[in-house]
Amino acid sequence: MEPVSRETETIVSAEIPDTPLAQAVARDVRRRKDLEGLRLPRPARTRVMTVANQKGGVGKTTSSVNLAAALAASGLEVLVIDTDPQGNASTALGADHRAEVPSIYDVLVDGTPMAEVIQDCPDIVGLRCAPATIDLAGAEIELVSLVARETRMKTAIAAYLEHCTSTGRRVPDYVLIDCPPSLGLLTINAFVAADEVLIPIQCEYYALEGLSQLLKNIEMIRTHLNPGLHVSTILLTMFDARTRLAAQVADEVREHFPEQVLATTVPRSVRISEAPSYQQTVITYDPQGTGALSYREAAREIAERGATKEQA
Ligand code: ADP
Ligand code: MG
Repeated sequence: MEPVSRETETIVSAEIPDTPLAQAVARDVRRRKDLEGLRLPRPARTRVMTVANQKGGVGKTTSSVNLAAALAASGLEVLVIDTDPQGNASTALGADHRAEVPSIYDVLVDGTPMAEVIQDCPDIVGLRCAPATIDLAGAEIELVSLVARETRMKTAIAAYLEHCTSTGRRVPDYVLIDCPPSLGLLTINAFVAADEVLIPIQCEYYALEGLSQLLKNIEMIRTHLNPGLHVSTILLTMFDARTRLAAQVADEVREHFPEQVLATTVPRSVRISEAPSYQQTVITYDPQGTGALSYREAAREIAERGATKEQA
């Protein structure tokens, strides 16, 4: 083998900082530093956000739990309401959601106070969860024959905020509602209860298909049930910066929704998908990784945009 000449050695070591990998590492170091000890502004009043997209597997649950964890880790009080019978958000937040546990089903169908079903999440102070059990699968049908079937979630949240105030408990700064992948009564309840909709969009070919249906439904809710509802936030998830398709989809979404799309995108990351199997969010499972950094940056954007809007 030829010995490496001095000249070659110099060139090689000088080039290292220019490799994409070295640049990515340097960028992550900077991002970590920026986020260190970050405290986020408390909104003047509770922001209730529904995380919705009738497509399955686009990152609704992953975004709900990780944004919630990121907000709580920066000093805010956050409640996640799991309205998907799958109970994936409950799992990721370490909440017990075996069939016999009091859950959001009892709140919606039996009128049980929200305070009686909420659990503290073990890993992050200020993070709480109203879990979903498998019972919720029947709620979609059971709700149909109940009075005020569309406004039950709204009433329950209002009563809970009132309960916090009257008992001296800290009132949540954020309530994030994780929706099932459908536009049935559970999702309608979530839309009626919220001020804001957060739509996660996966950057792939069919991403925009179905989005117009979702927007039409939101418009219908605005007209008939909740005039204040608006899409405040769009988060691009599972973003693969190496593919041209992802960049094209991202550009197209940004073009249509310049105000709503967060600058932060969430990359595809194995750590993000692994975290739930340890009953954790990526914020505690891999706090220094790129997945946690992205969700913390997205949470910062959401909180800071909110604060800017309040001032305006
Ligand atoms: P939804 O709630 O919209 O159905 P999920 O949040 O459950 O979607 O995500 C669908 C699947 O994709 C899950 O297995 C989840 O772990 C995985 N996933 C979500 N976001 C990411 C990501 N950024 N990187 C890798 N896997 C992800
Ligand atoms: Mg889900």
